[in-house]
Amino acid sequence: MCEALKNSYELFEEIGRGKFGTVFRCYNSITNKSHAAKIIHKHLLTDSTDRMCLENESKSLTYLSPHPNILQISDVFEDSESLSIVTELCQPNFTLLDHITNHPLSDLQAASMMKNLLEAVSYCHKLGIAHRDIKPENILFDSWGNLKVCDFGSAEWFGDGRNMNGIVGTPCYVAPEVLLGREYNEKIDVWSSGVIMYIMLSGIPPFYGDSDTQIFEAVIRGNLRFPTKIFNNVSPSAKDLMKKMICRDPSRRISAEQALRHPWILSGGLASDLA
Ligand code: ATP
Ligand code: MG
Repeated sequence: MCEALKNSYELFEEIGRGKFGTVFRCYNSITNKSHAAKIIHKHLLTDSTDRMCLENESKSLTYLSPHPNILQISDVFEDSESLSIVTELCQPNFTLLDHITNHPLSDLQAASMMKNLLEAVSYCHKLGIAHRDIKPENILFDSWGNLKVCDFGSAEWFGDGRNMNGIVGTPCYVAPEVLLGREYNEKIDVWSSGVIMYIMLSGIPPFYGDSDTQIFEAVIRGNLRFPTKIFNNVSPSAKDLMKKMICRDPSRRISAEQALRHPWILSGGLASDLA
């Protein structure tokens, strides 16, 4: 582990584990603040894509900080063996997934969370960064309950108007244009955010199957339905926003900025009529 990290922070218990990194709670005695340190061992990164992930994460977080809904980075330490990214501390073992699993939210609760998520996504897009792996597991909450988007390992810069390519993301949340191997733009994050909204309000994903292949087929078909039994209490306005976000054609899909101006978001989930 990096000496420089140990010189500045006291390390405590493990609070999370990802593909490459282990996350620990740590404490800075000068500022009297607790943080999270994600320590990534370079020997676990076997190919150039993995190494790219590592660079992406600290670069994107540094470029985007501070924003109230994006995990705030405090320090980066690197030596020949590891990279340590120190960020603000969020509630350990509690992601948006824990909030929404088997537990549909009301329009009011969902609208407040979606507003924060869309604020983060539209800010990234304004600065030319696509997150490319928006999913509930990558959304944390600080001790006051504020929503924080994290895990920028798959993020990519498109700021010069360039299209992106490459398969990234997670089966249930990935946009169809990614799966079809086409060039795509930042609207893939709007699709994933729309899928999150659907799960928030219903407790089930819009596209599912018994295997990844079946899920991919369902995503590509993109047949968005709102089964009456499950969506009985969900307002027409919320459904209108989901249709506009989970729209197969990226050129007709609304942007994160436009979604923030949708009546359902502006009214905090109170607008029930069609927009
Ligand atoms: P993967 O790519 O497998 O999702 P990763 O290596 O990118 O993982 P993260 O998703 O950033 O790692 O972190 C892994 C887990 O550690 C998170 O799901 C979360 O539970 C926890 N965690 C990460 N950062 C923090 C933080 N700042 N505060 C509290 N918990 C955190
Ligand atoms: Mg993650």
